[in-house]
Amino acid sequence: MTSTLTPTTNPHWIGAAQAIAAADSILIVTHLHPDGDAIGSLLGLGNALRSLDPSKRIDLAVDEGVPSFLNFLTGVDTVQPVLTEGAWDLMISVDASDEARTGLVGAYGRAHSPVVINLDHHISNTMFGNIHLVIPTAVSATEVIFDLLDSMQLTIPSEVAIPLLTGLVTDTLGFRTSNTVPRTLEIAMRLMQAGASLREITARTLESMEYNAFNLWKQVFPSVILEDGVISAVVRLSDLAAVGATDPTDSGLSSFLAKINEAQVAIVFKETLEGQTSISMRAKYGYDVAGLALSLGGGGHKQAAGATLDAPIDQVRAQVIPLLKAIANGTP
Ligand code: 5GP
Ligand code: MN
Repeated sequence: MTSTLTPTTNPHWIGAAQAIAAADSILIVTHLHPDGDAIGSLLGLGNALRSLDPSKRIDLAVDEGVPSFLNFLTGVDTVQPVLTEGAWDLMISVDASDEARTGLVGAYGRAHSPVVINLDHHISNTMFGNIHLVIPTAVSATEVIFDLLDSMQLTIPSEVAIPLLTGLVTDTLGFRTSNTVPRTLEIAMRLMQAGASLREITARTLESMEYNAFNLWKQVFPSVILEDGVISAVVRLSDLAAVGATDPTDSGLSSFLAKINEAQVAIVFKETLEGQTSISMRAKYGYDVAGLALSLGGGGHKQAAGATLDAPIDQVRAQVIPLLKAIANGTP
């Protein structure tokens, strides 16, 4: 591969490449409730390192494993949902803005790896770990991985190109977010040339939804309120029980609500445990929910951010809705 797209100013690229070359065993982990970019990063980097040097041991792990809509990616069968044994020369965390986001597998990996590479694209990244490949202008963590592989002058096989394009497509909602720039499409072009089908990835991710997840939408639609530019929905444990769901993932309900013309921001409150609430926020172009997420102990991007709070769902609603109204009514 040529290295024309490689950012050459970041000394950490060289350190990362050296740490990877020196390690005989590498653990890669990603964030809780993984999305297309999390799993795309895990498998894109994992498959690349496995093909680079088959003698290295490359382990991949994420709490709760891979969501079923991403089962089409090569290597999903090698992803471990739990780690109880093993030690590695190097751990690489991908698409996680802080250590807590890497869950139990991340905690286990940190305790059993002397060096940690923190590879991410969240502006809210806490800069944990020893080597930082944190590029907030990257649209996805898979873009950072593309640059890393490019800086190592690696050829990209299709089993790497497909997961990398999956992260690019899902985190940009199909190249529609405001951070999508010509270079994003240039990288997508390179990945398509390497064998990734944009049509297949789009169909399997953005255009896919389990009927049971849709049943959860039907269940919670009566909770939807639009007030002062803020549209919100509430998902309680009782709603999950009513439709027989165990997974609090909302399958993009906040993104769907953010389409509503009269709303500037959208939020879904999810009761993840009794007394614990996670929020998923979306902002229209020109509005920014990242700062609010960060102030609540979470993180994300201007247009999509979230947090998990140890407080009951109604208390979180009372606290957060006024703050969102201020954002919705601020100057775009
Ligand atoms: P989603 O609303 O799709 O779950 O997440 C949108 C964005 O917010 C993602 O970039 C994700 O990383 C971030 N995010 C969501 N929930 C949390 C959280 O509990 N903590 C942190 N740090 N970030 C979150
Ligand atoms: Mn991401």
